[in-house]
Amino acid sequence: ADVVLDVTDLSIAFPTDEGLLQAVSGLSFQARLGRTLAIVGESGSGKTVASMAVLGLHDPRRTRISGSIRLEGEEVVGAPEWMLQALRSTTAAMVFQDPLSALHPFHKVGRQIAEAYRAHHPVSKAVAQRRAVEMLDRVGIPNPHRRANQFPHEFSGGMRQRAMIALGLVNNPRLLIADEPTTALDVTVQAQILDLLGDLRREFGSAVILITHDLAVVAETADDLLVMYAGRAVEQGPARQVLGRPSHPYTEALLQSLPSPSADLGLLRTIPGNPPSLLAPPPGCAFHPRCVFSDRVGAPCRTEVPAWRAAPGESHRHVRCHLEDPVTAIDAGGLR
Ligand code: SF4
Repeated sequence: ADVVLDVTDLSIAFPTDEGLLQAVSGLSFQARLGRTLAIVGESGSGKTVASMAVLGLHDPRRTRISGSIRLEGEEVVGAPEWMLQALRSTTAAMVFQDPLSALHPFHKVGRQIAEAYRAHHPVSKAVAQRRAVEMLDRVGIPNPHRRANQFPHEFSGGMRQRAMIALGLVNNPRLLIADEPTTALDVTVQAQILDLLGDLRREFGSAVILITHDLAVVAETADDLLVMYAGRAVEQGPARQVLGRPSHPYTEALLQSLPSPSADLGLLRTIPGNPPSLLAPPPGCAFHPRCVFSDRVGAPCRTEVPAWRAAPGESHRHVRCHLEDPVTAIDAGGLR
C-alpha cells in the first residue's frame, strides 16, 4: 500500500535523423512513501528521461514509449494531457537543477505558490497567500512575509531552490522528484537543501526520488539506490548495502572514482573509456568495453544482455550482470 510509483518494463526511444536513440530499456522500479530513492548514473544513463516520463513531461509526438508507469494506481503511459496535468500538481511534483526554469521571472514568488495552491483548492486569494507564506517559512526562508512579495531574481540561488521546493510541495504531493537539485549550489548550501528534503520527506511522509550523478549525495540522503547505465538498471538495493558492497562492476567503478577526503588529487581514478552511444550501444552488456571483469566471463558479456535478477543470497537486491556471484567476485577483485 505504500508504493506510490510502480514502473514496469519501461522503454523510451526517440527517433532522430541518425536513427533511433534508445534512452531507457526495460526499466522497473518502485518508489515508496517515506523513503528516498536515489537514481544514479552518468549523463545519458536515462535517469532524467525516465523521471520526466513519470510526470508525462515527454513530447508524445517525438517519443516512443512502452511499458507501464503507475502513479497512485493511475496509468501515466498514454494518459491524456488533462489527466497528466492533474497528476503533476496533486500527486507528484518535480524540483529541477535550475529553479528559474520553474519559477516565472515576472511574478512575485508568493503569488506563484498561492496560485498553484488555488488551482486545486477553492479558497480566497488571501487564504492562498497565507498558505504561500507558511510554505516559505517551512522551507526555511527567513522573513517569509517580505520574501513572498519579492521576485525570483531577488533571491539567492539557495533561496530560489527552497522556493521551488515550496512550490512543489504546496499541494502535498505523495511523490517529489528532485533532479540534481543541488548541482548548481555551493557545498554548504547543497548540504542545507539535502537536509531540507530529508526533513520534508519525514514531515509530509511523501516518497522522494533524488536523481543525481553524485554518490556522496546518495550516501548522505538515500534509503534505496538504483544505478543506471546506458538506459538500463544495472543494480538496485538498500543504499547502504549497495555502497558498502556493490554487486555490479559499474557501481564498483563509480565508487573507485569517488574522491576520498585523504586522496591525493593526482591519484584519483576515473572509469576508463567513455559512456556508450545510445544510437549504437555495444552489444551484450553495454558496460563490457569498460568492465574489468568481462574477460573473466567471456563471450556472454559481448553478446547477451544480462537478465535483471535477484542478487545471489540477497533477494532484496537486484543486479544485471553475467558474473555468477557478483558481490563476491567484486570483493575478491582486489580493486579496493
Ligand atoms: Fe562486466 Fe560482464 Fe557483468 Fe557486464 S555482464 S558488468 S561486462 S561482468
